[in-house]
Amino acid sequence: MSAIKLGIVGVGKIATDQHLPAIAANGDFQLLASASRNATVPGLPGFTSIDEMLAQQPDIEAVALCMPPQHRYQAARAALLAGKHVFMEKPPGATLSEVEDLDQLAQSRGVTLFASWHSRHAPAVQVIKAFLAKHAPRQVHVIWKEDVRHWHPGQEWIWEAGGLGVFDPGINALSIVTEILPTAMFLKSGVLEFPANRDAPIAADLRFTDANGLDVHAEFDWRQTGKQSWDIIITTEAGVLRMADGGAKLWLDDVAQELGDEGEYPSLYRHFAALVQNGKSDVDLSPLRHVADAFMLGKRKAVEDFHS
Ligand code: NAP
Repeated sequence: MSAIKLGIVGVGKIATDQHLPAIAANGDFQLLASASRNATVPGLPGFTSIDEMLAQQPDIEAVALCMPPQHRYQAARAALLAGKHVFMEKPPGATLSEVEDLDQLAQSRGVTLFASWHSRHAPAVQVIKAFLAKHAPRQVHVIWKEDVRHWHPGQEWIWEAGGLGVFDPGINALSIVTEILPTAMFLKSGVLEFPANRDAPIAADLRFTDANGLDVHAEFDWRQTGKQSWDIIITTEAGVLRMADGGAKLWLDDVAQELGDEGEYPSLYRHFAALVQNGKSDVDLSPLRHVADAFMLGKRKAVEDFHS
């Protein structure tokens, strides 16, 4: 099959750090152009809007959307209406309803919609899922604590409504938990800490359960300096699993487990190519639904102003 001709939209940190190298290394894709208001991809035609890119580069068959989630719907709709396959960065949108609308549009147009969750492609995730299918989890503890000033310098959109605040990284943990658990979980209670001068939370403490009474405790915090934590600890009857570094490392009862070495973004693009080639979509909204539930059920606590 010939390479899928691709356009990339929103050339910022993640597009530059991860998408461009993963696309360049994957023979199933050929990057034709970019659309971004202030940035271009060296050596390729650059446009300032997706509409202009699609009009000027009609050979484009698929787009990767890497802008902030509040601005993804219009771009995705334009691409789907033009008959293009769409790869969306996480989180797939600002609301559940708009992503469902896109899912239906993709189905009606017969094109692929991929709502990606990069953390699900970390090497430990499928290993843990297979283990938990045999040994039911008894307790899950998620610790996702990082320094927002280090990882999101100058990004104002994450503090605006729809930017999700600490759920921007926290949703990565939720994407892993929803992938590995054998049963569906749901929120029981939560506390969301909002800086008084911001529209998005800087920390969240969430308690989930499932039909069998499983205890899932998630702690998200953006004020962590020093050691950063992207860990999940799962107690089972067959031992304790400790996942660290967002899924790059795994121990069972302190014995390091051997993991594959494919990176998250190479794996994401391999999956996207297979979806396009097989005429399928992949739109799982469960991580975003848990975040929406947290905003709906969680108590709101005002904390000190945040200045970057
Ligand atoms: P970013 O550095 O701010 O880049 C996003 C780009 O989107 C901007 O550079 C901007 O480029 C474009 N954009 C279009 N409309 C925009 C608007 N109204 N406001 C701001 N930017 C706009 O953000 P990012 O870190 O790459 O994150 C983008 C998406 O990727 C988010 O959904 C995020 O959750 C996800 N993600 C990020 C990371 C990470 O480590 N940073 C990791 C995984 C996933 P122009 O100004 O040129 O239009």
